[in-house]
Amino acid sequence: MRKEKDYRELLEELIKETIEKRGIKDKRVLAALRSIPRHLFIPGGDLVLAYSDHPVPIGYGQTISQPYMVAYMLQELEVEPEHRVLEIGTGSGYNAALLSKLAKEVYTVEYIPELAERAKKVLKDLGIENVHVFVGDGSSGLLEYAPYDRIIVTCSAPEIPGTLVSQLKEDGILLIPVNEGYYDMLKKVVKHRDGKLEIYDLMPCAFVPMRGKHGFT
Ligand code: SAH
Repeated sequence: MRKEKDYRELLEELIKETIEKRGIKDKRVLAALRSIPRHLFIPGGDLVLAYSDHPVPIGYGQTISQPYMVAYMLQELEVEPEHRVLEIGTGSGYNAALLSKLAKEVYTVEYIPELAERAKKVLKDLGIENVHVFVGDGSSGLLEYAPYDRIIVTCSAPEIPGTLVSQLKEDGILLIPVNEGYYDMLKKVVKHRDGKLEIYDLMPCAFVPMRGKHGFT
């Protein structure tokens, strides 16, 4: 009971003092953040680590992204309630859990089977049923359920994989960190009705490298 109260206070402080102050205004994104306990996605469940604005190791050399970056990406993704969203890089499952509150269906692909299994369990324990976790190489997307209204990649790619763009619907948005040497650049790709692409550089960031066919070998 006490732990429950502590986590809610810490989460609220993180949202008010960091996430809102740094400019996240989207009401649905903020509500999603308030509804998902981040500590459940962190091995050991440490509350201080979970509710600080930092990336945290989740094992197998991977990390759960910094909360501000997660919130920023979700705001830029402009998800609507009827959307079907593809995520590449399930990791802990935290971002997928947030997406489950914003979208109709979420398809998420993870390269490391152990992480996918752990994420599945946490999502199930939280009663989340609209997230579908797949093990495999997501660098070519997930053809089975394509096309998607939105695609979000949470590992950094050497370049924007064409197959991901081809699995995006018209009026779709793809967010992807692309490695540019010493840092990654978070890119927003907007696919217009005539198929034309607009690509914006949003901000420098640091993500773990994408593996697989269109990743780093
Ligand atoms: N969104 C995650 C953060 C994931 S870190 C969260 O909320 O916790 C990035 C993840 O991408 C890692 O788990 C890594 O294993 C995964 N990854 C790397 N290359 C991949 C690929 N080609 N296909 C699917 N997942 C990949």
